[in-house]
Amino acid sequence: MEIACLDLEGVLVPEIWIAFAEKTGIAELRATTRDIPDYDVLMKQRLRILDEHGLKLGDIQEVIGTLKPLEGAPEFVDWLRERFQVVILSDTFYEFSQPLMRQLGFPTLLCHRLITDENDRVVDYQLRQKDPKRQSVLAFKSLYYRVVAAGDSYNDTTMLSEAHAGILFHAPDNVIAEFPQFPAVHTFEELKKEFIKASNRPLAL
Ligand SMILES: [Mg+2]
Repeated sequence: MEIACLDLEGVLVPEIWIAFAEKTGIAELRATTRDIPDYDVLMKQRLRILDEHGLKLGDIQEVIGTLKPLEGAPEFVDWLRERFQVVILSDTFYEFSQPLMRQLGFPTLLCHRLITDENDRVVDYQLRQKDPKRQSVLAFKSLYYRVVAAGDSYNDTTMLSEAHAGILFHAPDNVIAEFPQFPAVHTFEELKKEFIKASNRPLAL
């Protein structure tokens, strides 16, 4: 049996924080771990900015609801689900991804959680576990599944390494250069072919 593990942002949907910053015009929300390497400091800053703009979870979801998955992503997910059990492993939050996941037909998603108060204010966040993508692959392997994984960035590389086969999709040049052991492709058509190659079953396009 085989499971396909997919990253979400950059693979199936846009980077949610960046798209959200663009939609709302709140430039400070564009900061990423490249600007503020400490994830907790970055997240606390994001939550403070949301608060300063009086944005409650419902408002945020409304904005995110106007975002679209990447071109061809819903069709790709449908294609993949006919051939693999598909699990999305993401560092996003359930509450943020909800409007985009709806457009993808709600495939299984393992990610983190936002904590809101009784007024729908986002007050904190909760990470699911440490190194969550790799841990998930390890868990599927303990169930004797063969795992094929695809992702676009540094936070995917431990997942790709732990999987039986890993694929880089939409990855920037520096990631491709640093991880030459993984095939790197840029279109959903090429990605389908890589999944077929990586499978131990005779699959067709
Ligand atoms: Mg990504």
